[in-house]
Amino acid sequence: MEIGDSLLSLGLEEAASGLEELLSRATAEGWSFTQFLSEMLSRELSSRARGRETMLMRLSRLPQVKTLASFDFTCVPDLDPKVISELATLRFVHNRENVLFLGPPGVGKTHLAIALAVEAIRSGHKAYFTTLKEMIERLSRTGASARSLRALSSPSLLVVDEVGYLPMGPAEAHLFFQVISARYERGSVIITSNKGVGEWGEYLSDPTLAAALLDRFLHHCHVVNIKGDSYRLKEQSKSKAKKASQAKK
Ligand code: ADP
Ligand code: MG
Repeated sequence: MEIGDSLLSLGLEEAASGLEELLSRATAEGWSFTQFLSEMLSRELSSRARGRETMLMRLSRLPQVKTLASFDFTCVPDLDPKVISELATLRFVHNRENVLFLGPPGVGKTHLAIALAVEAIRSGHKAYFTTLKEMIERLSRTGASARSLRALSSPSLLVVDEVGYLPMGPAEAHLFFQVISARYERGSVIITSNKGVGEWGEYLSDPTLAAALLDRFLHHCHVVNIKGDSYRLKEQSKSKAKKASQAKK
């Protein structure tokens, strides 16, 4: 059997496809056996890491890609960048801790939640993004089946976006509680909300259940309060101002 075929049978696809090129380079440059083998294996490993990242990105259902690099901290002077860079180390994922982003609309809560999920995926963690509305609809539809609960409890990081918008009856609140309870001390959850936790009792239409949910969720949790004006509105007024000044010219 040819070496290329053997590599393929072993599932070393990158090594197989790059074999000819690598062999001629090794011959031309007089590489040692160790050098050749090490180069071939490191190419195979990085190709696998890339493949895994692409797969994890697809499975995560992120609505779009946002990164920490594209987050402008000068727009939110009250937010300490150190808090976010500490979260970006992903220690919270390793320690199975949670993150709560609180603040009014447009201050970058979803952006930061997505960016942390992207960081987690880049480090090889499985992450899953959902809005509370989507999550509750899916759980209600499937009668909170073991399969749908597993999909929400198996990733290392679950992002539940937009807690506070969907009106919650007792049945919905109970489903939300089930998810938080299933993940408690087993995997990280990032929640974004426009409602302070003091309002959750009323929001979840059951203060006792809300207290039990918050007790678990907040036990190991980084709470990040974001104040400020909506970035969306700022961008809009900036572009309006730009148009107006162009019109004057
Ligand atoms: P929220 O979830 O708090 O309502 P988003 O994260 O959806 O807000 O932000 C609204 C839009 O503004 C998004 O397109 C987001 O990427 C952008 N945005 C918000 N804050 C910032 C920021 N500080 N730097 C760069 N983009 C931002
Ligand atoms: Mg949002």
